[in-house]
Amino acid sequence: MTSTSMCRRRFLDASAAAVLVHTSRAFAATYDLLIKGGRVMDPSSGLDATRDVAIAGGKIVAVDANIAGDAAETIDARGKIVAPGLIDIHTHAGRSADGPPLALQDGVTAWIDAGSAGADNIDPIAAVARGAPQLGRLLVNIARTGVTPEGELNNFSNANVDLARGAIARHRDVVIGVKARLSNVVVGTNDLEALRRAQEAAAPFNLPVMIHIGQSYSPMRAILPLLKRGDIVTHLYAPPPNAILDDQGRIYPEVTAARRRGIVFDFGNGVVDHFNWDMVEKATKEGFWPDTFSTDWNVRSRTTGVVDFPNVMSKLFMFGMPLMQAIACATVNAARVFPAFDDRGTLNVGAPADVAILELREGSFEFLDNYKGTRTGRQRLFPIATVLAGKRTPPRT
Ligand SMILES: [Zn+2]
Repeated sequence: MTSTSMCRRRFLDASAAAVLVHTSRAFAATYDLLIKGGRVMDPSSGLDATRDVAIAGGKIVAVDANIAGDAAETIDARGKIVAPGLIDIHTHAGRSADGPPLALQDGVTAWIDAGSAGADNIDPIAAVARGAPQLGRLLVNIARTGVTPEGELNNFSNANVDLARGAIARHRDVVIGVKARLSNVVVGTNDLEALRRAQEAAAPFNLPVMIHIGQSYSPMRAILPLLKRGDIVTHLYAPPPNAILDDQGRIYPEVTAARRRGIVFDFGNGVVDHFNWDMVEKATKEGFWPDTFSTDWNVRSRTTGVVDFPNVMSKLFMFGMPLMQAIACATVNAARVFPAFDDRGTLNVGAPADVAILELREGSFEFLDNYKGTRTGRQRLFPIATVLAGKRTPPRT
């Protein structure tokens, strides 16, 4: 108030032009953070233009050209992409407390741990989610053991509906769905029954089910009818047997029908057996692109073919997906799948100020599938800075 009245006093002696300048400085909104001059790409509103983004109180308060006014901190984003914070719906970031801060360095401001744990071991993972710097949520594995190297559903008594429901009830604040891995090596011939049990566990809470497909005993035409609107198929480009493509490389009609009735198809990069370039090439030629991207990330991913979420986004971009759509797959599309992310994946005024600043670099970049196959792209997205709840977070080391 004091400085304002001092300013007012000084007006009296100033010329008209000086008053105008002084007024705008004295009464301009003060921002906590101003992200200046970046290419703002927000698929939630279709905005793709050079803009400033102003942040105060942890929220986006303005997105406009040349925003005037002072800010406690300014980020020069010229030459960079300013996107909503990335949402990774299939990770294993909850396995240890050091996972979430690492993912945050890659632009990931919300993540889901997809079935690392089941009823027996979900409590510590729920604690990691609650203590994470960014929004962390979980899918409970229908197997009480969670993911195991020997295949958690080979002992099928692990698929325990009552225990899974108990785990959801215990952790309603962070558990937002149920996960079932349906590969032959995980569940043998019981894949359909495993999925039925996952649905049974989810039903009283009205939660989605995410299935991991790839080399299952049953074909997709038997699996997909057991999914409801809003359920998710991860690893959509898993190679045969029992892939989304027939022997001639055409998408099965049951797959397009599933998408039509609201089933979400997710990329799920991972490391072993989840995709190869041949599947990506054939499926995208048929026009079948992912609805959402995800990394299947864990704390060791930087040394695998995953590297980071922007690297995974770059793979589909290399195959011709427009950049806006690639960003949508990593932001607003993911937000639409889970009510927990209703206010995320957007730079709209009023939204929590979660922002991923990325750079699209030109060069020669080698991308890996899960079978040591490489493709070379001419562009790659890199994580530059992450803003979480209006604050710039520590950079990647
Ligand atoms: Zn996974």
